[in-house]
Amino acid sequence: MGIKVAKFGGSSVADGIQLAKLKEIVEADADRKYIIVSAPGKRFDGDNKITDLLYMCKAQKDQNIPADQLFQVITDRFNALVLSLGLDVNLTGEIQTIRKNLEEGCSADYIASRGEYLSAIVTAAYLGYDFVDTAGLILFDKKGRLMAEETNEALAAELAKHERAVIPGFYGSSAETGEIKVFSRGGSDITGSLVARAVAADMYENWTDVSGFLMTDPRIVDNPKPIERISYIELRELAYMGANVLHEDAIYPARNAGVPINIRNTNKPEDPGTIITAEMEASDRIVSGIAGHKNFTVIAIYKNTLNAEVGIIRKLLSVLEDNNISFEHMPSGIDTVSLVISNDELDGKLDDLIEQIEARMKPDSIEVHDDIALLAVVGAGMDRKPGTSARIFTALAENNVNIRMIDQGSSEINIIIGVSNDDFETAIRAIYKAFE
Ligand code: ADP
Ligand code: ASP
Ligand code: MG
Repeated sequence: MGIKVAKFGGSSVADGIQLAKLKEIVEADADRKYIIVSAPGKRFDGDNKITDLLYMCKAQKDQNIPADQLFQVITDRFNALVLSLGLDVNLTGEIQTIRKNLEEGCSADYIASRGEYLSAIVTAAYLGYDFVDTAGLILFDKKGRLMAEETNEALAAELAKHERAVIPGFYGSSAETGEIKVFSRGGSDITGSLVARAVAADMYENWTDVSGFLMTDPRIVDNPKPIERISYIELRELAYMGANVLHEDAIYPARNAGVPINIRNTNKPEDPGTIITAEMEASDRIVSGIAGHKNFTVIAIYKNTLNAEVGIIRKLLSVLEDNNISFEHMPSGIDTVSLVISNDELDGKLDDLIEQIEARMKPDSIEVHDDIALLAVVGAGMDRKPGTSARIFTALAENNVNIRMIDQGSSEINIIIGVSNDDFETAIRAIYKAFE
């Protein structure tokens, strides 16, 4: 008998109907021993995610606006869940504790984590599995960074005591203070991957609301083609660039332990979904996927014979370092170098940054474009197939999309293209059509 770790996302635990599907899936395979759950997500368009509501409670509290009504909505959702499953579980005590902590000024991380916490308690009762809390097992250092090895040891030691368990996603705690600490949004995927590594699973199943990883974002292209198999490396590029089916940080732990990942659809469990492994596909496929997101700034610096000036890039990088700013890409030419930085990262720092670049690099001119979207066209087959870039650029030209920047990684499994924010969706559709 093997071990499968199965993570169910927000829509898969949104209500009693979804939990019944979860139960059927779990019970269909005795290997599904460790189950990770998100907080209940949207049940229908326009519904709220519990995590969003919890963050809103905290924001209201901080503004001295009573959060009673909002908190009641959350309480009602969990009570309705317990009722619809016919469970003999009383959450009153737990909910009172959370309420009290909110009143007494708990942290945003603590309150945000309670959606997963309650979700796991309910799911564990429904499946008849043990509930294993991740506070004290998934550990963060003083700077808020995951302590990967310590976490692995703590999870492995605890889970060895439980043959079957339900584990809340999204959070752990500070190794030093014990305070609750959450991952970034969508972080339950990371919890699943950490558990898969710790129990040396044969498979990490990630159950969501789409039948696997699709060639591009289904919110932009109607019914994009599903990808049967993809490598961790390609997926990491796509996840990083915005294909948020799987959190970008969820890939490393599973990959490190050699655990394949299978993205599956809770609403269509018969679909095979996408398998993610170390192997690069040796098929004829050129492009595996297209992803991207908006709101980057390009700072283009011009200086005559920049390439001949020793140490000039170091000067540029030192300005970034002094201002604690990270960048995404740095394409360069004979007389130019450009920085691509996300607008969030630059927030309020742009003017100072430009001033310091001018002082240290003494450029001829600097241009700033703050409305750039980045697209990544990713495929392990791209380096074997000449003419890929030409196909991308032709597709964009035919759709009147102006290319603002190009960067090809040295790994040659991706090409990054900058277009204006307004052209983002058109560009994705055009490239998809060219390679579908
Ligand atoms: P969960 O709550 O199960 O973690 P998410 O909402 O985080 O689910 O991720 C699934 C969603 O990711 C899909 O519903 C889809 O809208 C979106 N998505 C974006 N890009 C892709 C892609 N390339 N393939 C599949 N889904 C994608
Ligand atoms: N509930 C958290 C979120 O909405 C974590 C997750 O679902 O993965 O971001
Ligand atoms: Mg998710």
